Amino acid sequence: MITDKIVIITGASSGIGEATARLLAGQGARVVLGARRTDSLARIAGEIRQRGGQAVYQTLDVTRPEDNVRIVELANEIFGRVDVIFLNAGLMPNSPLSALRIDDWHRTVDVNITGVLNGVAAVLPVFIARKSGHVITTSSVAGLKAYPKSAVYGGTKWFVREFMEVLRMESAMEGTNIRTTTIYPAAINTELLTTISEPQTREQMQGIYDRYGISPDRIARVVAFAIDQPEDTTVNEFTVGPANQPW
Ligand code: NDP
Repeated sequence: MITDKIVIITGASSGIGEATARLLAGQGARVVLGARRTDSLARIAGEIRQRGGQAVYQTLDVTRPEDNVRIVELANEIFGRVDVIFLNAGLMPNSPLSALRIDDWHRTVDVNITGVLNGVAAVLPVFIARKSGHVITTSSVAGLKAYPKSAVYGGTKWFVREFMEVLRMESAMEGTNIRTTTIYPAAINTELLTTISEPQTREQMQGIYDRYGISPDRIARVVAFAIDQPEDTTVNEFTVGPANQPW
């Protein structure tokens, strides 16, 4: 059931996070939005409320552990608990390794790996105490296959797969009843390509997205499906892409 679920969404200021916030709130979830662009969060939360939904927001940099703790506290203060955390914030500054965009490598690891760890660390005590909760993450098809120019980004998304699988196993072994879902989107038309600083890579990726990109709404629907399953059921992994995708 989605109705009345309290759902924290990181990376909610655009793209997949924004689409998911709007869809879930439209289906009766109470959403707690986090990202760095507070003005965008305020606008999205305001529009959700105008349509009769329930949404609050908080400025969140996922690389800062204290921000992650704070957004869990906010959900508890305003709505009384957390049922689901969608750890979706991420960036994709792809480039060939030979370009030595070392700052990009580190930023990618900080947000896509450390950000996920910080989110899980913030919510896990709450989920363990309640013996209930759902962790959802956005990996990528780049977390399933290797792609040139995606060594670091892909590596962070492979990490997410490993991490979520062990979280699922340990929860089952420890009887904490934490559900896990990892989503592996293909090309989704969002702001993600703006994080690519290397011009040639960005142009090449833009060509791929022009041909194969689909709406972030499609990912939102999958997140909603995963949340909507019976409480004793984990739907663990989804690959989501366009029907015409050959790679
Ligand atoms: P967008 O760029 O539209 O959204 C990324 C979101 O992450 C934004 O809300 C951004 O908000 C947030 N974010 C980035 N850095 C931080 C940070 N340090 N702290 C908090 N929030 C942060 O792209 P998508 O919607 O596509 O990306 C969402 C997820 O989907 C990412 O993990 C991405 O890797 C994954 N993905 C996307 C695919 C695609 O083709 N688009 C394919 C496969 C996976 P702000 O800047 O306001 O902080």
